Amino acid sequence: TPGVRPLIAGNWKMHGTLREATALAEAVQTGAKPGAELLVCPPFPYLVPVGGALAKGGVALGGQDCHAATKGAHTGDVAAPMLRDVGATYVILGHSERRADHGETDAVVRAKAEAALAAGLIPIVCVGESEAQRLAGEAEPVVTGQLAGSLPDGFAAAGGVVAYEPVWAIGTGRTPTEPDIAAIHAAIRGNLESRFSEAGSALRILYGGSVKPGNAASILALAHVDGALVGGASLVAADFLAIAAGV
Ligand code: PEP
Repeated sequence: TPGVRPLIAGNWKMHGTLREATALAEAVQTGAKPGAELLVCPPFPYLVPVGGALAKGGVALGGQDCHAATKGAHTGDVAAPMLRDVGATYVILGHSERRADHGETDAVVRAKAEAALAAGLIPIVCVGESEAQRLAGEAEPVVTGQLAGSLPDGFAAAGGVVAYEPVWAIGTGRTPTEPDIAAIHAAIRGNLESRFSEAGSALRILYGGSVKPGNAASILALAHVDGALVGGASLVAADFLAIAAGV
């Protein structure tokens, strides 16, 4: 999207040791080039040391989830102000793995996104259809329905990010065709503009799902693809940096 700086976000999921996490962060920072904004989202225990490894700046830090409450009796959960406190500026919300593993509904994701905004974090809200929904021709209504339910009203004013991640493309090595990616991104753009007016035109819409160095440049060149959310390939610094070089 013209005038919009692309975002290449690495979702490290539940991978790696402390040593691997800090080494990966250092390698990403050392190799970062002007162009795309880079973001890494390590597992919670590694946020502080990874933040330390990124202290020279140039690579942003994010969480992979947060709770909807600012604090309280929620064993095992992490609050948005805690992420902000340790230097995170982004948080991934509503990833399909959380929707599947933890039963997160659109309403839950919206409440978490509100908490993120209140804490000063930029939410990256994930949406995407299942393979059955894609085959039934329902990808677009599923995605626009998830947007309606998951995005809070303050989303655009805070520069929120949408990640389109077809569930069947995550970690599978399969991707939609480029016309199919472009069609969903155009539909997301239309949805954001109808809900948020002009502010919706400048929000970043990331594609996620089996993005690799070999397919990144052509996906990132599609209209309304303003970056990528990268899982597996974000665990190898050279691959993550090669994807970013494709913007
Ligand atoms: C993801 O889970 O956000 C993702 C895009 O994973 P992968 O790149 O491994 O498909």
